[in-house]
Amino acid sequence: MARLVRDRLPTDDLVRIKKPVWVFGHDGRIREGDRVENAEPAWSYRQGISTLGKLLHAASPGSVVERECRVGRVERSSGAWRIRDESGQEKGEFAKVLVTAPAPQARELVAGSGAEISLAGIDYAPQFSFVLGFCREVEPRRSYHALLNEDRRHAIAWIGFEEDKAGHVPSGQTILVVQMSPDWTMRNMEVDRETLLPEVMRELRSVLPVPDPEWWDSQRWRYALPKKSWDASSLKPLEDDGLFFAGDGQAGKGRIALAIRSGIDVAERMLV
Ligand SMILES: Cc1cc2nc3c(=O)[nH]c(=O)nc-3n(C[C@H](O)[C@H](O)[C@H](O)COP(=O)(O)OP(=O)(O)OC[C@H]3O[C@@H](n4cnc5c(N)ncnc54)[C@H](O)[C@@H]3O)c2cc1C
Repeated sequence: MARLVRDRLPTDDLVRIKKPVWVFGHDGRIREGDRVENAEPAWSYRQGISTLGKLLHAASPGSVVERECRVGRVERSSGAWRIRDESGQEKGEFAKVLVTAPAPQARELVAGSGAEISLAGIDYAPQFSFVLGFCREVEPRRSYHALLNEDRRHAIAWIGFEEDKAGHVPSGQTILVVQMSPDWTMRNMEVDRETLLPEVMRELRSVLPVPDPEWWDSQRWRYALPKKSWDASSLKPLEDDGLFFAGDGQAGKGRIALAIRSGIDVAERMLV
């Protein structure tokens, strides 16, 4: 991953997140994080992490991206794979297909092909994220970039300071990304976000003394974190027929580097 990001792709917009991740417990007490984990470099891009996908696409001559197209079906007929969009329109016939949607969505796409049996029972935890904007810097003298709930007993799983990623936040301001825990998210997935904000602020203030934000936003991720890895061996017979799967679900952990690693591994098998 380091070779790909630092040596193979353009690095003009690559930014290193220099400060470490510290941890907090269910009582809100903050302490220094794991030194070994923090020794791993953390990266982002000036315009956001979606830059990575754009750079990979630009570095892949011949690749074609079709945006705003929701795939409805991947089906086998006459020895080939056909892809149809949501409206049923055929998008082409292919000898090999790689599906990278999270397992529950991948299962729907390939229903009837036999692949859905191998993908059954693979579950993802949801995550509710809140973004809070402050016109002045919050905690300007802190030694950490983000705080992780280590005992998984707090309603908040992660608090990140976006201004540590160069280019993301105007100078002198703070943007906090507050990721709620999977349990809290499950309880509140369908609740109106305005109703939830006071509780989110209360939970946040049990860790950090923050004022009310000047602005805020939120996002619900239904398939955020794979709970366990896919059984790759059960997918092997499908690979022999040209149907492949990749993504963070194969590693059982939500990390971009692991999703890319799984993509590279599958690509090597597809090219045989
Ligand atoms: C809130 C949050 C914060 C995170 N922060 C970090 C972080 O800081 N660092 C890190 O390393 N990882 C982070 N992760 C994890 C990281 O985002 C994932 O591990 C990674 O994106 C997984 O990549 P993927 O390609 O497997 O799946 P995804 O990124 O989920 O991509 C799957 C794609 O398939 C598309 N799709 C699904 N169904 C269809 C369909 N029918 N037709 C067309 N398209 C379809 C989806 O729209 C999606 O774009 C975070 C995750 C979340 C939820």
